[in-house]
Amino acid sequence: MRQSQLFGKTLRETPKDEVSANAQLLERGGFIFKNSAGIYSYLPLGWRVFEKIARIIREEINALGAQEIFMSALVEKKYLDATGRWDVDISFEARGKKEKSAGFVLGWTHEEVLTAIALKYINSYKDLPLAAYQIQAKFRNEPRAKSGLLRGREFIMKDLYSFHSSESDLERYYEKVKEQYYKIFNRCGLKTIYTLAAGGIFTSSNTHEFQVLSPIGEDTIFVCSKCEYAENKEISKLKDGDKCPQCDGKIKKENSIEVGNLFPLGTKYSDAFNLQFTNQKGEKERVIMGSYGIGLGRTIGTIVEVYHDDKGIIWPESVAPYKFHLIELESSGQEVKKQAEKIYKTLFDKGLEVLYDDRDDKTAGEKFADADLIGIPNRIIISEKTLSKNSIEIKKRNESKTSLIQISKFVKNS
Ligand SMILES: [Zn+2]
Repeated sequence: MRQSQLFGKTLRETPKDEVSANAQLLERGGFIFKNSAGIYSYLPLGWRVFEKIARIIREEINALGAQEIFMSALVEKKYLDATGRWDVDISFEARGKKEKSAGFVLGWTHEEVLTAIALKYINSYKDLPLAAYQIQAKFRNEPRAKSGLLRGREFIMKDLYSFHSSESDLERYYEKVKEQYYKIFNRCGLKTIYTLAAGGIFTSSNTHEFQVLSPIGEDTIFVCSKCEYAENKEISKLKDGDKCPQCDGKIKKENSIEVGNLFPLGTKYSDAFNLQFTNQKGEKERVIMGSYGIGLGRTIGTIVEVYHDDKGIIWPESVAPYKFHLIELESSGQEVKKQAEKIYKTLFDKGLEVLYDDRDDKTAGEKFADADLIGIPNRIIISEKTLSKNSIEIKKRNESKTSLIQISKFVKNS
């Protein structure tokens, strides 16, 4: 991609209405556009990061045997009436009072809708277990939407739902989802802590969260410094400095960001919709369910909170919008430009992801500042100086050292 043609430009000034690092850096870097408080549009750079994370999630969730679907964003009253959740005050009316009275909200959750769908296709124990997920926008009227992508009024989630013939089968699946979640977050560069949590309004039993330690986090967890056993403050009786209930380690109080969650739903939804299956003895039984979420925007926001310095974002390679940032410093003559174009074409033809700073109206200082802000992991600089040695200069975003590499050698090895 040529930076001169990129839709979305870097901003010099920090947006005054944003307090969190993720919102400030993502807006300044041209990744997102703020439509309203807690509502953002993804620009091409941001959408590339989003798609990388979505791909990691799809690979790991598909490996569980779950199948991707896509449910409607508009949810009719009859679905939420079944569980008494129509009047939950986090919902947005679909379009003013008129539509609400007609009976639609913008979906803030999809358990009811999927249970209603499952009702049509689950009849026998042979149909179980079954799992489906979607990656879709959710809408919640969030009064505290001021942490950028960490807490939105519209946000995109991966929500996975599983259906089982027994509690033990749900437990087996729950453990498998947990393992996949570790893999997903590891691949995104995030170290997560599996945390025991309360059910909130979603379920009555204990749930689990994947938490990332961060000073900006709105959650508080008590975590063992040795074995990483953790409990959310909401339910915990632990205190800072306590002995860990699982080992001889010490408990520490930490702020954290919840990036994923797991809910054993039991029969809450199958009771509401009378979702039953016929067991091997020919008897009817309620289907047992679980649901499992990951906020994609929140994952992006968390990565930025964890990986940035005072100059900008430092993307882990797995989720970076591009692998290489090729920067041409054209001081005089056309030779630098010619060589840069050649390298760009070579990398592009090889299918490597390159953002090419071909802008003629920017100084070297401006190009470097933008590169630091955007945070692509590998920087390639070509200038008169490097060209005089038939070389390019390579620098990693998270390292200060630079190295010269012969152009021919770089092209051959990349
Ligand atoms: Zn411990």
